[in-house]
Amino acid sequence: MKQRNKTAASRAVAAPSRKLGLSLIVSAAVLAGLVAAAYGQRSALAPSIDAVIESLEVKRPAPEVVEFRMTDFDNGWLKYSDGAVKVTSDGGAQWREAASAAAGEKAAGDGDGSGRSERILAPAAEKKPASIEYGAKTVAVKQSQFLTDRIGWALPEGGLGLPAPLLVTTDGGETWHAEMTADVKAAVEAEKKREAEAELEASLYETPEAARQAMRAPSSLMPGRVSPGDVALLRQDKPGSVEWQGKTYKLQPFGSGYYTYIPIPMSVKPGDYSIGDRKLTIQAKTFDTQYLQVTKQMESMRQDTVRIQADQKKIDAARSKSEPAFLFDSPFVQPVQGVLTTPYGHTRYVNGKYDSSHMAIDLAAKEGTPVQATNDGIVALADSLYLTGNAIYIDHGMGLFSQYAHLSELRVKTGDRVKKGDIIGLVGSTGFSTGPHLHFTFWVHNVQANPNLFFGKTPQRWANPAQ
Ligand SMILES: [Zn+2]
Repeated sequence: MKQRNKTAASRAVAAPSRKLGLSLIVSAAVLAGLVAAAYGQRSALAPSIDAVIESLEVKRPAPEVVEFRMTDFDNGWLKYSDGAVKVTSDGGAQWREAASAAAGEKAAGDGDGSGRSERILAPAAEKKPASIEYGAKTVAVKQSQFLTDRIGWALPEGGLGLPAPLLVTTDGGETWHAEMTADVKAAVEAEKKREAEAELEASLYETPEAARQAMRAPSSLMPGRVSPGDVALLRQDKPGSVEWQGKTYKLQPFGSGYYTYIPIPMSVKPGDYSIGDRKLTIQAKTFDTQYLQVTKQMESMRQDTVRIQADQKKIDAARSKSEPAFLFDSPFVQPVQGVLTTPYGHTRYVNGKYDSSHMAIDLAAKEGTPVQATNDGIVALADSLYLTGNAIYIDHGMGLFSQYAHLSELRVKTGDRVKKGDIIGLVGSTGFSTGPHLHFTFWVHNVQANPNLFFGKTPQRWANPAQ
């Protein structure tokens, strides 16, 4: 008899808590019935049902949750003092029995027990509150776990008689909930989305550690040391804008932060500058001089300002809008393997007269050589222009465009989405050109930027070891 009740109590505790209450009442009622039968109906000596329940609870304490682990926002397991294991697949709203701890861990998606690698939004320092505030009371905490800086679970000492074994927070531990209400579920869903975006952002960095370092800092400037003609990338953890060389750059949200490119014009003097609350060092750089001889006919091309200005309007319109996101997820590639005939920044004299700085690289290759998209993006302009010939501008988002000029053939049209490596055109010598080559550069907020910085990198990998 005693043995049976003990078994019933164990079973009851292993069942969901609402069932537990019912089972206790049922077994108590059975017991009370037996007691009543022994003492005779309505006997004044018969103990009340309440007293029986109380004695059961005192004599046969329920197995307690001794350990829990959430493997992600939905899945987790609990272990009880009697060895029973329960699993959840809805963040702890419902718990169901598992055959064994191993089965429980497997069902909870933690088969090898090694756990997952640290989440990108995990708190910088592990939170281990000894107590939490719940229902205007201070509750001692046996164990807690924060998956992110916002979402966490806590196992209260003594169970508290709550409907669920764990309390959950969605605001980093400020407030705790005993149930997965609609609000809590919505907050967890929002956090899943926030984490997916942060993981996409983190994938642009060299390593997960480099990503965490940048993404946990109030601001990062990549790199912190540049030369005229280069570009830097600023990340802040809050929205805002920065002033630089007489222009305002508004930071755009991406992942868990806010970004803007900072173009470094050729005219800027070497020295230390402030960008937001970061220091930017500009080091001097000298560029070689190139003397170019062209025919009188070609030279006269440069005089047709009407056609040049008409083209410029098209180009300006194409570059006036950029997607507010990084449209790529891996490093940039050189669009054609050619012979570098004019490097970036060369001071160019045409027929003995100063012309300009060559803010691009010229890669000579056979006419018809396929030209690849340097990275994913959207074709902002694919058109036959006067000076640049058949030309393509690709928007890579956040104000960054790549430019391909003098093509013999265009293989894309304005508005096309392209992937890195797609053949977008063929090498040619159209427009102001002395022979088949690809004139290639980047534009950052309408300032030309050194393409060599991008090859084999994402801008998030412009790390400065000195920072
Ligand atoms: Zn060129």
